[in-house]
Amino acid sequence: MTMQQRKQYVEASIAKACQQVGRDPKSVEVIAVTKYVGIPETAEVLEHGFKHIGENRWQDAKAKWEQLGNQGQWHFIGHLQTNKVKDVIGKFAYIHSLDRISLATELNKAAEKLGIVQRCLIQVNVSGEQSKYGLPPEQLYDFAEQIKSLPHLQIEGLMTMAPFEGEAEDTRPVFGGLRELRDELNKRQIFPYEVRHLSMGMSNDYEVAVEEGATFVRLGSIIVKPAEEE
Ligand SMILES: *Cc1c(COP(=O)(O)O)cnc(C)c1O
Repeated sequence: MTMQQRKQYVEASIAKACQQVGRDPKSVEVIAVTKYVGIPETAEVLEHGFKHIGENRWQDAKAKWEQLGNQGQWHFIGHLQTNKVKDVIGKFAYIHSLDRISLATELNKAAEKLGIVQRCLIQVNVSGEQSKYGLPPEQLYDFAEQIKSLPHLQIEGLMTMAPFEGEAEDTRPVFGGLRELRDELNKRQIFPYEVRHLSMGMSNDYEVAVEEGATFVRLGSIIVKPAEEE
């Protein structure tokens, strides 16, 4: 399949999943995850009309961002070490991996220095897998209380990673769980604004994620094949 065909395929699957549950397909945005590929392929992704680019490590993103960062919106989706905050701050429209107070404090400080408000999503470990980063769900509301007064952070949503193994359908409770956490967060009105986004779903399970309310799906291999498969 060409990239154009893959894009059409993904858009059609999202439209179908939306139709299934009565959602507007426009409420779902695709983040093309380009971590597997280099500058030319990332440029090609942008040329095909993808508006959101996702990267999970600054070392891998740097060269691509320097060349193409003025195109599209860039999302930092990987685990973020506190000492890397200075590298990523101001470069990514959204940081999806806010999962601890020390990171929130550091991001707020760095954003203040630049005079910006950094948009973030709180990463929650809904599945409870040991290997995954993210806040345990039961700590979400306390965490929100603790960071709500940081003036240079805007909390735009929640993010989760589902377990890789198993059937896509098995991920449904994880995605549904993240949606319930977001709804409860809004019900408690911890933030003085609506927390809207749900960043969930990858190449193998994005249709289920869309049915469960995803507003950002993070798609890597289904859009840009990992180089070793070419
Ligand atoms: C790599 C990655 C993705 C995309 O994974 P695919 O299975 O290739 O679609 C999504 N989210 C995060 C955090 C990633 O690191």
